Amino acid sequence: MTNKTSIVSTLGPASNSLDTITQLLAAGVCTFRLNFSHGTFEEHLSVLQHINTARAMLPYAVSVMGDLCGPKIRISAIEPETVLVAGSELTISVGDKVGNAKHFTTTFADLLNDIQVGHRILIDDGQLALKVVDKTSDKLKCKVLVGGALSSRKGMNLPDTDLSVPAITEKDWQCVDWAIENNLDYLSLSFVQRSKEIQELTEYIQKKDSPIKVIAKIEKPLAVDNIESILHAADGIMVARGDLGVEMDLAQVPLVQKQITALCRRFAKPVIVATQVLQSMIENASPTRAEATDVSNAVLEFADAVMLSGETAVGKYPVAAVKTLAHICKSTEVYIEGLNEPRPRMDRANEIAHAEALARAVAHMLDEVEAAMVVLWAENEAICRLLSKARIDDPILALCPDAVTARQLSLYYGVVSVHHQPISSYDEWIAAVRKVVLENGWASKGENLLLLPPLAALSENTAGAIIMHTIA
Ligand code: PGA
Ligand code: MN
Repeated sequence: MTNKTSIVSTLGPASNSLDTITQLLAAGVCTFRLNFSHGTFEEHLSVLQHINTARAMLPYAVSVMGDLCGPKIRISAIEPETVLVAGSELTISVGDKVGNAKHFTTTFADLLNDIQVGHRILIDDGQLALKVVDKTSDKLKCKVLVGGALSSRKGMNLPDTDLSVPAITEKDWQCVDWAIENNLDYLSLSFVQRSKEIQELTEYIQKKDSPIKVIAKIEKPLAVDNIESILHAADGIMVARGDLGVEMDLAQVPLVQKQITALCRRFAKPVIVATQVLQSMIENASPTRAEATDVSNAVLEFADAVMLSGETAVGKYPVAAVKTLAHICKSTEVYIEGLNEPRPRMDRANEIAHAEALARAVAHMLDEVEAAMVVLWAENEAICRLLSKARIDDPILALCPDAVTARQLSLYYGVVSVHHQPISSYDEWIAAVRKVVLENGWASKGENLLLLPPLAALSENTAGAIIMHTIA
């Protein structure tokens, strides 16, 4: 069984093989991220096929998230071992050619219209900084303020520039269609600024009859200002600290993370804490103390998931990074279980009031009785989400009649989900639960389970039931 805190792993050249994907799953990955900023559809399809092969071997469901670049501006390809030296000058033009330390290109067509002399250009999450010193009809002349290694397709932030890019680009729509065709479970949208951008995406997905859920990546100051409406429009939130730390004062990032994780708890939405989680493990076999502390704090803030980016996509130690992350999360989860803290009420939508009541009843029951697991029939995800957000100490096993829902639930804190054929009687339900938990060693004979069986297996007039069951 995986950790309570879900681990999201971005795949890339360091991890795209079937062998590494299998190892990443064994180390505890719950969700894979395919980053549409890199690679072709053909490449993504081959990676997806590897994921499908690898996850079919597991007893529980694992999800795949496609990451839409949104209006993210990137530099084009760069010659290997290119280094920008502070004080030197270079030019930038619109195009898609291989660049170097003297000249590079970007496919962002409006660059020359939008940017003005004096504006800053930040590259690679702000690690390199340029300033525009001159502008002609076809190129920008820039001075390097902060130098360093420059590599292909790194992000480019223009914090001083008013941008005229649409929230969902032409390329994004192609990626959305690809994601729908290939049965991805989540789509995350970069550089969201307003809830209507999320609504536009979800309406399109619904029109196509797809069950894909949408995650809003919070990486713009305007998104932080609009966080409540965005949160209500989205199925989940990602605190995208990489771009956030470039677009706004870095010192605000930890506070914004605290604010967003608290709101997601209050409104019962899953939240992913992302970027530079174990950054030093791109190069090193073990993380820094500061990184371990940051991960632990994210778990203490009730993040549902933590995400690895470069660590698993391009790093030297992708599998070790997941193992390390799982270990740090686990230690903090065990600490939280020992705390016995009161559970704050959630502000949830009226239509899930019943689910919240049931979740809180389970939480109260677990204060009184010992159980190895809570096992529920997850016909819809709301009850499972609310149970997850109630932060009960026990692991939650969701048996799910719908394969996509089962996969999507893998992102939720404390939930392990299993796709299961429909159940029509109580005896069938008990037999199914027994088989799944015993076969996987998730509970043993003589232990108690708290069961929320399918309504179809109970009498017709039952609104819900919590049943204490001892495994015979
Ligand atoms: P990215 O998003 O990795 O797609 O840039 C995450 C972030 O900005 O933190
Ligand atoms: Mn980003």
